[in-house]
Amino acid sequence: MSNKTTSLRQDRTDTSRPSATGDPVLRLDGVEKHFGDTEVIQDLDLTVRDGELLTLLGPSGCGKTTTLRLIAGLERADGGTISLRGDSVVSDGAFLPPEERDVGVVFQEFALFPHKTAAENVAFGLTDRSGDERETRVAELLELVGLTEHRDQYPEELSGGQQQRVALARSLAPEPSVLLLDEPFSNLDVDLRVEMREEVRRIIKEAGVTAVNVTHDQEEAMSISDRVAVMRSGHIEQVGRPEAVFQQPESRFVASFLGHASFVSGDVDGDVVHTGLGDVPRERIQGLAEAYDGSAVDVLVRPDDARVRAARDGDGNGRVKHRRFLGPTILYRVELDSGDVVGCMHNHADDVPLDQPVTVELDADHDLAWFPRGAPRVPGDD
Ligand code: ATP
Repeated sequence: MSNKTTSLRQDRTDTSRPSATGDPVLRLDGVEKHFGDTEVIQDLDLTVRDGELLTLLGPSGCGKTTTLRLIAGLERADGGTISLRGDSVVSDGAFLPPEERDVGVVFQEFALFPHKTAAENVAFGLTDRSGDERETRVAELLELVGLTEHRDQYPEELSGGQQQRVALARSLAPEPSVLLLDEPFSNLDVDLRVEMREEVRRIIKEAGVTAVNVTHDQEEAMSISDRVAVMRSGHIEQVGRPEAVFQQPESRFVASFLGHASFVSGDVDGDVVHTGLGDVPRERIQGLAEAYDGSAVDVLVRPDDARVRAARDGDGNGRVKHRRFLGPTILYRVELDSGDVVGCMHNHADDVPLDQPVTVELDADHDLAWFPRGAPRVPGDD
């Protein structure tokens, strides 16, 4: 989006939630990383605040894991600075090695020691404490992750979820300033993944640790995070509360990446915006500045914002072209007479005929996001 366009729009960038107002614990400024000729991270800025759980979310290859590895010191940045609790760990020419950074990492594959028990795995990394102190801390952590009863079991005797709890307890044991989690749920089966998301959030919050999580799973990011940073091609496209990035996306990419998105074309005309779904009161469109009078815009419509029914008395405005049965819901794809395509989510029992005249109506109790027409579209927009 051009600067001109941005300046015409009302400011929608302040999407932090109150919990993101603590002291900064981790700061990345202008971080860059190349692999050969490929610029993988470009001018990346990010601040993570005390006690916050922030998720880096983006498509495969956008640079999430590389960012995490740069924070941990497992990769060297080619430019920019990284600081932890105000102390620089990466700056011009300076590089603090991983073992000297106050950072814990939970890897995808958990990386537990197979010949150590759960308790011994957790105790690893507590060598600077006396025997009694170590034992007390291990017991505390095993209780925190709900594994007191399993302290003497070896990793192969534990389920995937229990192994993850051990890995988490081990990383939390030295009380790191920041805990980094690299796709922590990807090795768990689907049911366990959902259960462990809630558990991991609970454990992180009870431990009070500042955490950065990495995932390409939108639902995971939105369900566990205080804030989500949406990444694209090595930079952060938007950062904010999950509700804010979902409801007020600042780019078509963010709108599309966070869920099914239809873009319905509209013409701004005084108090209304004329669209293929009828006239939408201008006040229902988020922050549509006066400068856009007479302009063409695209209005973001999510599938739960639109209802489709068989046309009555010739009031149709489109035809259903596709029906995707998803179990509890059905996603209808409707081609509007205006040429736009819109998705409509319905209960599994709502049957709407294919290829017959239908009427799509907006059914949203929130204001709708929009984008100036003619701004470059990105793949996957439609
Ligand atoms: P995924 O979700 O698939 O794990 P990601 O967003 O975590 O992806 P990265 O693993 O950070 O992405 O990789 C970003 C880009 O950098 C990719 O194009 C990847 O191929 C490239 N890359 C990562 N590590 C290296 C390396 N050691 N050498 C060369 N290229 C690399």
